Amino acid sequence: MQYYSLNKNAPTVSFEQAVCNGLASDRGLYFPENIPQLAPDFLSRLAAMTIEDMAVEVMQPYVGNSLTEAALREIVSATLCFDFPIQSVSEHIGSLELYHGPTLAFKDVGARFMARCLGHFIAGDASAKKTTVLVATSGDTGGAVADGFLGVEGIDVVILYPKGKVSPLQEKQLTTLGKNITALEVDGVFDDCQDMVKTAFLDDAIKQQRQLTSANSINVARWLPQMLYYFIAYKQLHKQHKDIVFAVPSGNFGNLCAGMMAWKMGLPIKHFVACTNSNKVVPEYLQSGNYASKKTIPTISNAMDVGAPSNFIRIQEIVANNFKALKAILSGFSYSDTATRAAMQSLRTECDYVAEPHGAIGYLGLEAYFKQAGDTSSYGVFLETAHPIKFAEEVETTLDIKLEFPAQVAGIMAAKKQAISIATYADLKAFLMD
Ligand SMILES: *Cc1c(COP(=O)(O)O)cnc(C)c1O
Repeated sequence: MQYYSLNKNAPTVSFEQAVCNGLASDRGLYFPENIPQLAPDFLSRLAAMTIEDMAVEVMQPYVGNSLTEAALREIVSATLCFDFPIQSVSEHIGSLELYHGPTLAFKDVGARFMARCLGHFIAGDASAKKTTVLVATSGDTGGAVADGFLGVEGIDVVILYPKGKVSPLQEKQLTTLGKNITALEVDGVFDDCQDMVKTAFLDDAIKQQRQLTSANSINVARWLPQMLYYFIAYKQLHKQHKDIVFAVPSGNFGNLCAGMMAWKMGLPIKHFVACTNSNKVVPEYLQSGNYASKKTIPTISNAMDVGAPSNFIRIQEIVANNFKALKAILSGFSYSDTATRAAMQSLRTECDYVAEPHGAIGYLGLEAYFKQAGDTSSYGVFLETAHPIKFAEEVETTLDIKLEFPAQVAGIMAAKKQAISIATYADLKAFLMD
């Protein structure tokens, strides 16, 4: 499989090169040259397959010759080392809980898959310089990336986070791992962290010393394995339900875009719903046909506070930039913080289900779609993208409950924080040149 740049001004590359480059040389996002089709008997074999076999079969054409089947199997098996249950919320609606991974965020799958791919490629390249994954985080991404890369040979991870602006649990997840993970506590806001990272990527002096890589959802190795959520959910549901609709709480639209790839490969998904907070470029585009990215608005579902979603261009490529075709498969709805809190409350009182703000927005979008489409026969799945404990303050206040700490993070609050304080780009540079 070869990957081309969506800016159409860079050479096509293999999966390995796409993973190592992150972004193409013309700053475009990579996209597979063709979307592989499921084998004709795939669906009839599905029920009897293990999740691991299914995942290897789905991912194999995308990695092409870059990984042997044995290497891919090892990576997939290490990636999918937790459960993806669907909790029934009402007769026609279930919550696909993607938060049972080590950092309680759905980003665990993408981060683990990418870390293992990169580690594998570096191990096979004797001339490789020591690689540094440099990321700025506003909370969730950093934890998943740090944990995903923990102990991966040949890779150092440096995470910049804004001092006092991440939750206590998130901070512990970033600062207590040790080994190849270093946390830099920046005296500033998230945008300062992001700016420093961007500057470092353009700094030749640093690049001579270290191979720098980012680990955001632009990277094909973080984006594509998210297809597996939809396959795993479909596998659980297809015996009882013919028509399945997925509602995806979206920020950068990597997750939804992966779902649409699964559909394009032949997975029979009836419809998708893009669910956003007040950062609603995509729902507005689906309404009006005008795409206008905006300044980011802060909300209580802050992992989706994205004014210019980076993966939307990939979604348009999937439907060959055909607006009508896009509207036929995708609807979009957006919600205020007030509506989000009301949904969390009604989920709790009417369905006995505790959702955090991102999942609640998925639930709202699903209900809205069913109503708008007059659809009373499909089964709807909303993706619950984070554990409620990740947004404990909001959940506990809105629902007037006390959450318990899940086993994955029970010990972490007592672990000792280790972070290096920095304030300026010069501090970051000095650290990276050392
Ligand atoms: C990252 C994230 C999202 C948004 O996912 P995208 O792939 O960027 O659309 C939604 N919810 C949570 C909790 C997240 O961490």
